[in-house]
Amino acid sequence: MTFRAERRGTFRAERRGTFRAERRGAFRAEVRDQIAKWRRDGVFEPRSDSWLTGYDEDFSRRLGARGWIGLTWRGRGFADRFVLTEELLRAGAPVAAHWIADRQIGPAIARLGSAALKQALLPGIEAGDVRFCLGMSEPDAGSDLASVRTRAVRTDGGWLLDGQKVWSSHAHRATHAYVLARTSTGEHKHRGLTEFVLDMSAPGVTARQIPDMRGPGHFCEVFFDGAFVPDSAVLGSVGDGWGQVTGQLAFERGGPERVLSTYPLLALTLAAAGPADAGRVGELVARLTALRRLGKQVAARMDAGEAPIGAAATLKMLGNRFEVDVIEVARSVPGVPRAAIDDAVLAAPGFSLRGGTTEVLGVVIAREAMGAVG
Ligand SMILES: Cc1cc2nc3c(=O)[nH]c(=O)nc-3n(C[C@H](O)[C@H](O)[C@H](O)COP(=O)(O)OP(=O)(O)OC[C@H]3O[C@@H](n4cnc5c(N)ncnc54)[C@H](O)[C@@H]3O)c2cc1C
Repeated sequence: MTFRAERRGTFRAERRGTFRAERRGAFRAEVRDQIAKWRRDGVFEPRSDSWLTGYDEDFSRRLGARGWIGLTWRGRGFADRFVLTEELLRAGAPVAAHWIADRQIGPAIARLGSAALKQALLPGIEAGDVRFCLGMSEPDAGSDLASVRTRAVRTDGGWLLDGQKVWSSHAHRATHAYVLARTSTGEHKHRGLTEFVLDMSAPGVTARQIPDMRGPGHFCEVFFDGAFVPDSAVLGSVGDGWGQVTGQLAFERGGPERVLSTYPLLALTLAAAGPADAGRVGELVARLTALRRLGKQVAARMDAGEAPIGAAATLKMLGNRFEVDVIEVARSVPGVPRAAIDDAVLAAPGFSLRGGTTEVLGVVIAREAMGAVG
C-alpha cells in the first residue's frame, strides 16, 4: 500500500470513529432525557439492583415501543446497548422484566435459533412482551454447570424435559425459559448437553417462588415433568450446549450491570459527601472510570464477533467488589438516606454469586492467562 493510500485509509477510519462517537453521544443524550422525563412523570422510583429486582412489564413495553430492546440483533450492536443500559442502570430504572431476553437469550436466538424460533420470539422480545428466565442452575449444579441432570428425551417432533432448575429469577412470571439439559449420557460431562427454549405455559412446567431475605421475590425453582419442546426450539446443535453456553456467559458477565447495581446509592453518596469524604468517594469514582473503560472494551469485542470470556469475568469480579465498596462508603457518609443503603445491603449478598461466583471467575481468568502464556 502506498503512503497516500495508507493515510487515506487511516483518515477514513478516524472519520468513521468520530461519526460513531458523535452518534453514540447523541443516543446517550436522547436516552438520558427520556429517562429524566419518565422520572419526573413518576413512571418509576430509582432503586439499587434494578436490573434484577426492578420488575415492571409496563416499563419494559415503554422501552420496546421506543425500539430500545434488542439493539444487538437489530443492527445497533453491543456498544450502543452499553450506552443504553448504562443510562438505565444509573437511573435505577426497572428493567428486570426484559433483561435476560435482551442481554443474552435474544442474541442467542438471533445467532443460533431456527427461522421459526426467530419469527416466533424476536418481535415479542423487542416489544417487551416475551420475557425470559434462565434455567441453568440445579440443586447439584451451580458453579459446576456441566453437572446438570435435567434430561431431554427424544419424542415425535421434539423433546420431553424432566428435572429441576433452581434460583431461576422471575420464572413464575416469565413467558419463556432458557433450559440447559442433558440429551445424552455416558460421555464426558461437558458433552451431550443441549440448549432449549421452553414455553413456560407448556403442560408439565411448574414454577414456585423461593423467598429470600425480603420475602417472596425473584427466586424460583422450576420443575419439568415431561414438558414438550419442539425441534424448532433447540438452540444451535444438539449435544453442543456446553460450547455455546460458555460463549454466552461473556454476554451474561460482561455488561455494565456487573458494576452499576449500586449506582443509585453512589449518586446519593456523591450528593451528600463533604470535604472529609473526598478521598473515599474520589477513589470510587476513579475505579468506576477504569471499570467503564473495560466494559466498553468488552462491548467492542462482542461487536467484533468475539466471546471475551476472560475480560468479561474480570469485569464482573472487579465490578462486584466495587458495588459492595459503594455500600461501605455510603454507610460512612453522613446524610445518605437510610432506606437507599438498606435496599443495597439486602441485594449485596447476590452480587458475587449470580452469574458465577468470584472464586469461579478467578479460575476462568487464571485459565485464560495460563493459555496465553502457553
Ligand atoms: C441473586 C441471584 C440470582 C440468580 N439467578 C439465577 C438464574 O436466573 N438462573 C440460574 O440458573 N441461576 C441463577 N442463580 C444461581 C447462580 O448462578 C449460582 O448460585 C452460582 O452459579 C453458584 O452456584 P451454587 O449456588 O450452586 O454454589 P456452589 O457451586 O455450590 O458453590 C459453593 C461455593 O464453592 C465455591 N466453589 C465452587 N466451585 C469452585 C471452584 N472450582 N474453585 C473454587 N471455589 C469453588 C463457590 O465459589 C462458592 O463459594 C442466581 C444466584 C443468585 C445469588
